[in-house]
Amino acid sequence: MILILKKGVKDEEIEALIEKIKEVGLIPHISKGEEKVIIGLIGDARAKDRNYWLNFPQVEDAIRILKPFKLASREFKKENTIINVNSVKIGDKGIVFMAGPCAVEGREMVFKIAEIVKNYGAKILRGGVFKPRTSPYSFRGLGKEGIKYLREVKETFNLPIITEVMSESQIELLNDTVDIIQIGARNMQNFSLLEEVGKLNKPILLKRGMSATIEEFLLAAEYILSNGNHNVILCERGIRTFETYTRNTLDISAIPVLKSITHLPIVVDPSHATGDRNLVIPVSLASIAAGADGILVEVHIEPEKALSDGYQSLYPEQFKELVEKSKLVSNSIGRYVE
Ligand code: PEP
Ligand code: MN
Repeated sequence: MILILKKGVKDEEIEALIEKIKEVGLIPHISKGEEKVIIGLIGDARAKDRNYWLNFPQVEDAIRILKPFKLASREFKKENTIINVNSVKIGDKGIVFMAGPCAVEGREMVFKIAEIVKNYGAKILRGGVFKPRTSPYSFRGLGKEGIKYLREVKETFNLPIITEVMSESQIELLNDTVDIIQIGARNMQNFSLLEEVGKLNKPILLKRGMSATIEEFLLAAEYILSNGNHNVILCERGIRTFETYTRNTLDISAIPVLKSITHLPIVVDPSHATGDRNLVIPVSLASIAAGADGILVEVHIEPEKALSDGYQSLYPEQFKELVEKSKLVSNSIGRYVE
């Protein structure tokens, strides 16, 4: 159920209503829009019916949200959510580039890549230190040593950092250094991890599971939102299909579908979606044209020597070309590259 409050309701009146909501065992989630205040009621909605809420003088209307996801839905919040990461806005008109290596492999390489991607237009640096690898024998990231490099590189280049956490225990290690926490495709339904990051006051980039439906994706986001963290960025990174020419199949239509049913920003990862650096530029341009708010892309100075995902990592010059071409596409749809 969502409660739409009357225009001009005072803060004390909202507080009083919140107390009433808690008294009947529901959890209130407040969304203050430009015009109206909306309160989402999470819990057993049968606790009280629509008429019960309409009796409160603060309430203009009470609407039952029929979709299984509630706080993520456009019914709960009409306006796009804009997430501010050190003054970089994700979900606004600007398209944000988050670029860097698949994994932090060493200090020197991450410094070189950070400098290059920043010069070419990236606003956020990506780089994994805990890598979810299919084989336990593959390079699985530098762990704590990598976090040290991320901290140094962030301070040197004044670039916010996005990196993945795979378990609850890693959150504490990374929390001070990292600006956006990434939940990888393989952990999209790790519900206890989602609940933990839901308790943080930090943006979370949630990747779509490789076999997740859009509804399952949004229900995973709901785990984070319902724990109080409203800073969720969705990331479409391709899903498994019968097609083998690409590593995954980018679900391009998921972008406009998500835009219509959720207020959360949507970023596309063309690297994992295609698995091939030669496909990254066209697929990114298509994603921007379809409404993506940002691109999360792998870039390496020596992709052939990369310890993970080299084949899909862009050469620096390709990243430059990607940003330049993205400007043209963005401008043609009334947007711009941040
Ligand atoms: C990654 O971003 O490096 C990654 C492992 O992505 P995904 O979870 O989408 O496979
Ligand atoms: Mn990767």
